[in-house]
Amino acid sequence: MNILVLNAGSSSQKSCLYALKQNVLPSQPPEPLWEAQIDWTHQQGVAELKVKTTTGVVLKDELSSVSRVNLTLQMLETLWSRETQVLEKPQQIDIVGHRVVHGGEKFRSSTLVTPEVKAAIASLTELAPAHNPANLEGMEVVEQILGTELPQVAVFDTAFHTQMPLAAATYPGPYEWLNKGIRRYGFHGISHQYCAQQAAQLLGRELKHLRLITCHLGNGCSLAAIREGYSVDTTMGFTPLEGLMMGTRSGSVDPGILIHLMRQDNYTADELDQVLNKASGLKGISGISADMRQIMTALTEGNSRARLALEIYIHRLRSGIGAMLASLGGLDALIFTAGIGENSSDVRAAACESFEFLGLKLDPQKNIRSPEDRDIATANSKVRVLVIHTQEDWAIAQECWHLLHSN
Ligand code: AMP
Repeated sequence: MNILVLNAGSSSQKSCLYALKQNVLPSQPPEPLWEAQIDWTHQQGVAELKVKTTTGVVLKDELSSVSRVNLTLQMLETLWSRETQVLEKPQQIDIVGHRVVHGGEKFRSSTLVTPEVKAAIASLTELAPAHNPANLEGMEVVEQILGTELPQVAVFDTAFHTQMPLAAATYPGPYEWLNKGIRRYGFHGISHQYCAQQAAQLLGRELKHLRLITCHLGNGCSLAAIREGYSVDTTMGFTPLEGLMMGTRSGSVDPGILIHLMRQDNYTADELDQVLNKASGLKGISGISADMRQIMTALTEGNSRARLALEIYIHRLRSGIGAMLASLGGLDALIFTAGIGENSSDVRAAACESFEFLGLKLDPQKNIRSPEDRDIATANSKVRVLVIHTQEDWAIAQECWHLLHSN
């Protein structure tokens, strides 16, 4: 069974193909047969294509087109043509899964794509202007190649958080905001849910008996408090801007600052959007980079703004974990995932240090090795600490498999 996954972002389209033997869902994520990425931000009118296969073939190309639909089409063609060919024909694809960033209040689980589902995703564009249209374009490309009969599945990044208690999901603004859809949705749900399931497997316990905090620390950062397999709180809100400090995003700031900037400096909505989403966070404070590795290097060279950036990052992370802890009322495991969470032993150690009063004890030797899918707490720690390699694409492929086999 061949499952194609499309993961569209504002500046890139990523895709991979999983080939499952005898239709069986393996318990651990397999390597994709083919992986591709197209990036259109570097040069106007030129997109960079990168493709690799499990057999070690790598293709790099520059494509000139301004149409994202056409670029995605060219990327997918490398599945059945050129040196990266892994299929004889596109019809060998059995199902396609799409990561859809915003499912609003409507989509509480993954769903087969129908004209009504597409219309509903389009109607949520206002809430995710950079992402939902790109997701719809991906669906359109697949329809162009394989027609409307091929099953396509929308897997929502917000779905995991739709069960959050109303008190956690509602902003204390006027009640009318709720009717307008202004509420906390939460994001990174595919990753938080996947990590919770992997954690239960690693711990050999049932998810329904666990209280977990998942820390998704990548370019975007968010936490989730997970009780009995359900997200009961999270740090991102109406948009992926709320919560922790991130690579280029500020996370939560006093909304009074925005009013001040509008009144004093005549900031427009677009300028506020730019400053909060692109010129803040690690990059904004350090003036160096949004990449934690570069912050760490600058810090060892004595750069004081890099030091401040890291200190704010850790301060906010600890506060966030504290807030999630309060929503759970206890903790069985703290889980680190995504680029920073999986690779930075310094960030993990600093985050854990504040929670030693819970009896949480990190094993420094295990932590420094950044092992994938392992427990890095000491044997006598009262809270387990796990590093889990997030596999959002595999989580989407699993959703496809389940939907196909439940019908
Ligand atoms: P992601 O969004 O999950 O791909 O994470 C990307 C981010 O992970 C990068 O911007 C880096 O800040 C961070 N990262 C990747 N590798 C490391 C590392 N070895 N140490 C610290 N941060 C890292």
